[in-house]
Amino acid sequence: MTAADVAKPDLLTCCRAFAGLPVGVVRPRRPDQQFLASLADNGLPTAATTVEVITLPQRPRAVPTPAIAEGVWRPGRTANALNAFVIRHPRATFLVDPGVCVDVIDRAVAELPWLLRVAVTPRRDVIAIREALELANIDAAGIDFALPTHLHWDHVAGLLDLDGLPVHLHRPEHTWAMSGPIAPQGGVRSAIRNRPVNLYDLDGPPILTFPRSLDLFGDRSVILVDLPGHTPASIGILAQTSSGPILLAGDAVWGRIQLERFRQKASYPGLLADADRDAAWETLHRLVAIRQRITIVPSHDHGRHEPLT
Ligand SMILES: [Zn+2]
Repeated sequence: MTAADVAKPDLLTCCRAFAGLPVGVVRPRRPDQQFLASLADNGLPTAATTVEVITLPQRPRAVPTPAIAEGVWRPGRTANALNAFVIRHPRATFLVDPGVCVDVIDRAVAELPWLLRVAVTPRRDVIAIREALELANIDAAGIDFALPTHLHWDHVAGLLDLDGLPVHLHRPEHTWAMSGPIAPQGGVRSAIRNRPVNLYDLDGPPILTFPRSLDLFGDRSVILVDLPGHTPASIGILAQTSSGPILLAGDAVWGRIQLERFRQKASYPGLLADADRDAAWETLHRLVAIRQRITIVPSHDHGRHEPLT
């Protein structure tokens, strides 16, 4: 394979991202009530067993709320973190969004364009994945596989410190990230290479408001659903816990405030981060429609960092 270029935002996109900030305050994107009303709820099947969802410890940073949700100024700041999760199922223990590696700022963030770096660089004392597992008393050797919600640096860089750990990937997401002429930023390809990769398709029936699904263990306890937009084939992980269903939603939304206020991501840095803003907006409608029925946990929302059992 020849060396690939790394995706960089063009000047026009950068200008639109900044220009969108004041526009979003005056005229935030309006929900499509017709589309919302048209969404069928296909229900949630009863699970044969439950799983435990553990949020690994992380050090949050306070980011301006207007950089999370379009035109939202109150509260002024929101706790943001690079959350990773461990799910324990009777047949496997696996990592959802395997966090970041040691020295992530030098090994991954340094590759990002400066405009994005300004917005997303984590704290210097960010907890790398191996330390996070240790702090949670989880043996890294007991992890069976990783299951990223999507292929961005802040969701897979931890794999760089987990040699040989198999990774489960949505087939179209893998194709997008690994085979195209433009690589996602931040060393995504090196995190995925040289390890077993198990590709899957969402070829199961509609679940809730999501058109496709995959029942990971065949017992309805962990169901993958499609949440496209942030990346072309992002997924969410619907886990049945003893206290009810939880949807780990990756970066479909950056904070629950987007669901509460029905706002898309702020144009800066959202326009630089989302692959398809219209698809992400449609996905947001699908999430808003079910937000009262299940607990939705965005990866970067640090509001819920206790064990999710
Ligand atoms: Zn992210």
